[in-house]
Amino acid sequence: PIIVFEGIEGTGKSYHIDKIAKYLKKKNRSFIKIREPGGNVNSEKIRKLILNNNSTFNKYTDLLLYLSARSENVELIRKNVGKKIILIDRFSDSTIAYQHYGMGIKIEFIKTINDFLIKGININFTFLNTVSQRNMRKRLIERKNLNRYDKFNHNFYKNVQRGFVKILKKNPKRYMHVNSNLDIKHNEKIILDKIKNLI
Ligand code: C5P
Repeated sequence: PIIVFEGIEGTGKSYHIDKIAKYLKKKNRSFIKIREPGGNVNSEKIRKLILNNNSTFNKYTDLLLYLSARSENVELIRKNVGKKIILIDRFSDSTIAYQHYGMGIKIEFIKTINDFLIKGININFTFLNTVSQRNMRKRLIERKNLNRYDKFNHNFYKNVQRGFVKILKKNPKRYMHVNSNLDIKHNEKIILDKIKNLI
């Protein structure tokens, strides 16, 4: 299956994905782990370009770069579908949440390009991590690698997270809503139980 982890920064996505990867390794299951933006050599080059604090791309350039990074991963995903478990840290939902709900780019425009790029790739399950407004502020302020237009803009993140939840509500069966205000170990267990079910 293809399993995606979504959510804004500081909600524990990467923590959980690492734990799942460790579990799969222990069980000798073959899997690949991809992060977006990034994931392979070319994609990581694009990640550096986007996340470099001095870059001043406009929001459309940004969108196209995020999609370019994905385009470089799609091949890898296609090659492994049905053969390996595929774990992805961010995918299409991030693009809709950040670039549409956050940056205001038309959703149809994003979907047209994205659907073309990912044709034939079906996400089996998504864990969406969310956080309360209070913890959002706290965790984002603590983080140093926020990307340049965010530099802690609370409204931006509020909109992005709301966007994620709207996406989940359209297709709730394919998602698990993880409340990252709760104890991380508790969430780790719920996620692992679900993973055992999925693989
Ligand atoms: O998940 P990670 O923290 O590695 O994401 C890197 C950065 O990329 C984050 O700061 C996030 O805000 C940004 N991002 C974005 N639009 C996307 C995906 C990620 O702005 N579609």
